[in-house]
Amino acid sequence: MRAPRRFVPDRGSARLVRTRVADRTELFTDSVGRPPPVYGERWVETGAHSYRSFEPGRSKLSAGIVHDWAGPLPTDGERWLYLGAASGTTASHIADLVGPSGRVYALERSPRPFARLLALAERWPNVLPILADARAPREYSRLVPPVAGVYADIAQPDQVEIVRRNAELYLGAARASVVLALKTASMGRDRDAAGHLRTALEELATWVDVTPAVRLDPFHKGHYLIGGRARPELFRVRGATPVTLSRAPHPVRSRP
Ligand code: SAM
Repeated sequence: MRAPRRFVPDRGSARLVRTRVADRTELFTDSVGRPPPVYGERWVETGAHSYRSFEPGRSKLSAGIVHDWAGPLPTDGERWLYLGAASGTTASHIADLVGPSGRVYALERSPRPFARLLALAERWPNVLPILADARAPREYSRLVPPVAGVYADIAQPDQVEIVRRNAELYLGAARASVVLALKTASMGRDRDAAGHLRTALEELATWVDVTPAVRLDPFHKGHYLIGGRARPELFRVRGATPVTLSRAPHPVRSRP
């Protein structure tokens, strides 16, 4: 009889675990949602937990962790704003990481993936989909409370600037987290990937204590995971007004 698989907490988080599969280590998250799988990932039931494989080939965040990303990660009980959630592949794993008491405000501007995101939220109660453009962050200020972190995967030429504008409005606490999956191919042809990375890091370093970037090849060609801890005093210098909630947040979603 095969010995039961042993899941070990990764980076001190009980919601991010790893296990040996044949000759390699695989990452899993402790699911907040219920089946079916979101993108074909494997589920392993252990009695107390339902673990979902966190596939580096499908999620840039997972690829970053596999490549030893030393920057912030979503942790139990936190609220995160997710820019470019698409149909929820990575957003569902971030929802697993923040656990049932955390929240993921999952923003997507394209209606087709958003429809799938809404369906996902039926099974992941801590995912709150919002159909909106991340370039207009004030438009969803009634829906998003102050958050502990911003994660972005929007593949836009001005992706770092979009993240900064959202961070100014929504990051709640000092030393809040910023994580960005940078797609250098979306940033123009005037320089190579290394040049785009350098520019993005310089821009980010004006308001973030930057963690060393990790390259996501071979899982995601030309992508890097960048980010770190935001320095809120810089937001105040820029004159941003922090968001205040006029009422309890009630995100756009398909059920009452
Ligand atoms: N993060 C997803 C994942 O790992 O599952 C994949 C995201 S895909 C690479 C980029 C997504 O960003 C697309 O679904 C696109 O519609 C969305 N997007 C691009 N620009 C946006 C914007 N300004 N506001 C909101 N969403 C945007």
